[in-house]
Amino acid sequence: MIYERYISGGRVALLEKMAEQLSSKRFTHCLGVEKASIELAERYGVDKEQAGLAGLLHDYTKELPDQEFLDLIERYQLDSQLKQWNNNVWHGLVGIYKIQEDLGLTDTAILRAIEIHTVGSADMSDLDKVVYVADYIECGRDFPGVEKARELAYQSLNRAVAYETASTISHLIRQGLAVYPQTLATYNAYVNYL
Ligand code: GDP
Ligand code: FE
Ligand code: FE
Repeated sequence: MIYERYISGGRVALLEKMAEQLSSKRFTHCLGVEKASIELAERYGVDKEQAGLAGLLHDYTKELPDQEFLDLIERYQLDSQLKQWNNNVWHGLVGIYKIQEDLGLTDTAILRAIEIHTVGSADMSDLDKVVYVADYIECGRDFPGVEKARELAYQSLNRAVAYETASTISHLIRQGLAVYPQTLATYNAYVNYL
């Protein structure tokens, strides 16, 4: 993968930039999601360049300070409700504005997959699903249920989306954390595939 049609400097320049702004653990995770996205793209007939780049970039803003997200929400006049959330929700939904500013990425399909990689959506493209699932199953992930998620990802993208969303919501509820409404919409749209 070269990514030169999408970002100037291509993959090499991007890796250098990402290594500067991310912890090594997060950087390694991004490489893992890139690889898993390409594998799922191959299996499900999705464009591998788009999947690889979306996977690589998905957590680009994961270590951005909160104030920068709040500034982006203001500057792009995004839904002001977003201010009540946190990095978990912002690094996807708001992160894409920073990615556009920093990298000049304009491909709307790639940006959309990055935008919803945490919360999903009731209407996901195959590219969106590939990145959403790859983030959950990349080879560095190790948590109860990851093997099951990997098995499902191999069988059916929709079942994998359903399983991941249900598990995430259960986890949030067990921890007493708020569930972003779009995450519930994703659950409702895919639960029948479980
Ligand atoms: P990561 O960025 O690779 O760690 O993975 P994600 O972007 O998928 O998720 C980031 C964090 O957000 C995880 O801890 C999820 O459990 C959490 N998360 C996912 N959905 C929601 C949600 O609807 N609400 C909240 N508060 N957190 C969520
Ligand atoms: Fe993320
Ligand atoms: Fe991630």
